[in-house]
Amino acid sequence: MCGIFGIFGHPEASNLTYLGLHALQHRGQESAGIVSTDGSQLYIHRGMGHVHDVFPQRELAKLAGHAAIGHVRYSTAGGSHIRNAQPFAVDYARGSVALAHNGNLTNARELRERLEARGSIFQSNSDTEVIVHMIAASTQRNVDDRIADALSQARGAYSLVFLTEQQLIAARDPFGFRPLCLGEIDVAGQAQPAVLVASEGTSFDLVGARFVREVRPGELVVVDAKGLRSSSPLGCTPRKLCVFEYVYFARPDSVVDGLSVYEVRKGFGRRLAEEHPVNADVVIPVPDSGVPAALGYAERSGIPFEMGLIRSHYVGRTFIEPQQSIRHFGVRLKFNTVAAILRGKRVVVVDDSIVRGTTVRKIVTMIKNTGASEVHVRISSPPTTWPCYYGIDTPTRRELIASSHTVDEIRRYIGADTIGYLSADGMLGEVHEGEVHEDDVRGFCHACFTGEYPVAFDEAVPPRLLRLVGV
Ligand code: AMP
Repeated sequence: MCGIFGIFGHPEASNLTYLGLHALQHRGQESAGIVSTDGSQLYIHRGMGHVHDVFPQRELAKLAGHAAIGHVRYSTAGGSHIRNAQPFAVDYARGSVALAHNGNLTNARELRERLEARGSIFQSNSDTEVIVHMIAASTQRNVDDRIADALSQARGAYSLVFLTEQQLIAARDPFGFRPLCLGEIDVAGQAQPAVLVASEGTSFDLVGARFVREVRPGELVVVDAKGLRSSSPLGCTPRKLCVFEYVYFARPDSVVDGLSVYEVRKGFGRRLAEEHPVNADVVIPVPDSGVPAALGYAERSGIPFEMGLIRSHYVGRTFIEPQQSIRHFGVRLKFNTVAAILRGKRVVVVDDSIVRGTTVRKIVTMIKNTGASEVHVRISSPPTTWPCYYGIDTPTRRELIASSHTVDEIRRYIGADTIGYLSADGMLGEVHEGEVHEDDVRGFCHACFTGEYPVAFDEAVPPRLLRLVGV
């Protein structure tokens, strides 16, 4: 998963992009980058690590101009390496283009083989670089037509923001897998507000910009000195917004497709209490990801909500650590228990999802060791059974505990007294699947829970292996 940001028409474009990336840091901590333009050339800086580490003031000051795009990366296709850090920037016969990508192309390998056969030389093993080469290879004259031409050959998930010396261009795949929204901000002495693009509207809040609307699935938005133009060259299909954005990925203070992520998560918790009630003394969340759902569970069940686990904010998300050895250690580094809340109590502990089962297993042990009399695990999404091919970094099927264990086997493995997962119908009901919103019907990709994949992918190559085979 990744976060992308762009701004056009602002004298402090790269400073605002830097702040925007801060608000998107939860979407990727592996690398960060900004490309800016002053109308004559592109300036680029990328590095491994968090936004504040990658951009000391002296680097930011070099990113001149009125327009910029930025990216925070969490590797999916392509390994964890500076060569795969984004935005990518290239020069081709007619100018330069940079791009930042959130998502995952499902036909990247096939496209890459085709391009390599024609002589393209790749610098990275990221699927995003394929788009750059397709733009360079296009026979179209204008850059927006080249982009449309390139994207018409791409399959899978992409929310993209491009920058050339003259234009900022945003694009979203026809299914709308990944979120992308438009904003604007007034600029002193300028008649036209600056235009912003971002994965989540929280980055607009941080820089004082207004949310305008979502970029529609299949839409291409071009922003330049003449203003903003929209077209839909990428076709239109039933919407398939990733439901996992609501479950875990997006920030709770974001509004995605008109729904408050916080409210949705709280609603998941209420439904979970209805589907899996239990007699208990206290409801506690796994912080931070389980907090809104635990509040909903407590509200609907009438069981008091408490913070029985305290999270250290000085370690990152453990899932993101690439090595298994670090992840095991991470859970202890990350949480501690509050004995006064847990000792002698029947505890309901709520988290958003179980992937491998490592986190929740350790948490149940910690709560029991603290003296709880019973531990009831409640998960505010269905069992994660299938890997994601559209940009979420889920492991291969074999590593997903729910793909090889029944719910009761998972309960035994994690050592809980009871376990309850939210049903797929409960989850999709809460996000209003099938209802009309802004003249379109809400639809979701829930392949990780149901195995119903909206776009074909190369089954022989599971997501993790894409890195190894160099796609
Ligand atoms: P695990 O220990 O592998 O079962 O991981 C479960 C924890 O990881 C839960 O607390 C989730 O909040 C979190 N999580 C689930 N999916 C992801 C993801 N794609 N990236 C990072 N963290 C995740």
